[in-house]
Amino acid sequence: MAEPSERQDPLPGIRAVLAVASAKGGVGKSTTAVNLAVGLGLRGKRVAILDADVYGPSLPRLLGLRGQPETQRDGKLKPMTAHGVGCMSIGFLVEEATPMIWRGAMVMGAIENLIRDVAWGDLDVLVLDLPPGTGDAQLSITQRIPLTGAVIVSTPQDIALIDTRKGIAMFEKVNVPILGLIENMSTFVCPSCGGRSDIFSHGGAREAAAELGIECLGEIPLHLSIREASDAGTPIVLGAPESAEAAAYGKIVDRLIEKLDAALGDAARKAPPIVVQ
Ligand code: ADP
Repeated sequence: MAEPSERQDPLPGIRAVLAVASAKGGVGKSTTAVNLAVGLGLRGKRVAILDADVYGPSLPRLLGLRGQPETQRDGKLKPMTAHGVGCMSIGFLVEEATPMIWRGAMVMGAIENLIRDVAWGDLDVLVLDLPPGTGDAQLSITQRIPLTGAVIVSTPQDIALIDTRKGIAMFEKVNVPILGLIENMSTFVCPSCGGRSDIFSHGGAREAAAELGIECLGEIPLHLSIREASDAGTPIVLGAPESAEAAAYGKIVDRLIEKLDAALGDAARKAPPIVVQ
């Protein structure tokens, strides 16, 4: 298989592309992607997020964005902006409730157009909220977009973890470094009494990550405030920055910054030297 650098045109002005993936839907991938993106922005990074989840584009809602992006004179779309983060989503172009049947090739075409026809400007990180799953569409994205690294979001349930292994295998196949696993909907924290219970069990991702030789970047509790903040369009890292939930995301963001820098360093070392004759 070809090295990514041989197959993919770099995205001009974009230093790192971080894919947020999950083996199945409903595990909190988009919620995590948005909180990581806004969290990176809060740490001074220039960030944008692309909603590649064409089956269920939810980023406009999670970021409280409405309306449609403007088209610039050069024909490129201007990303919408919320909370300091640029955003582009197929959800701006079609209604969220519109059922869409996409075949693999259509998904790739739509995402490639979105990513290359948007005037992102200079970015430290472009976060890519991938469609859930590990099928052809996802594989095609990982092959055709120059990803710096990927994080996989999973619930602690065993069944989800079996699928998660497929996700890990997919990135390994195309030489995209897996920066780590995030256990979402980990311990449930009762909003009334603060009591903790492990509804979907707990720590499964940490164990699986250790077994698979990848890092567990952190555990995000299952907490009503995370859902409420998302629905209100202000991710919890901004809506309640002092909360334990925001701190859990913050810890992951700090580690991701280190890991993205390391991945960029590795990629630079692996790149063939340019010889000027
Ligand atoms: P996915 O992108 O994997 O399909 P979403 O991010 O849309 O999942 O999340 C599914 C639902 O779960 C949403 O209603 C979201 O607000 C909620 N949710 C996600 N993570 C958490 C969490 N840690 N605590 C509470 N609710 C969460």
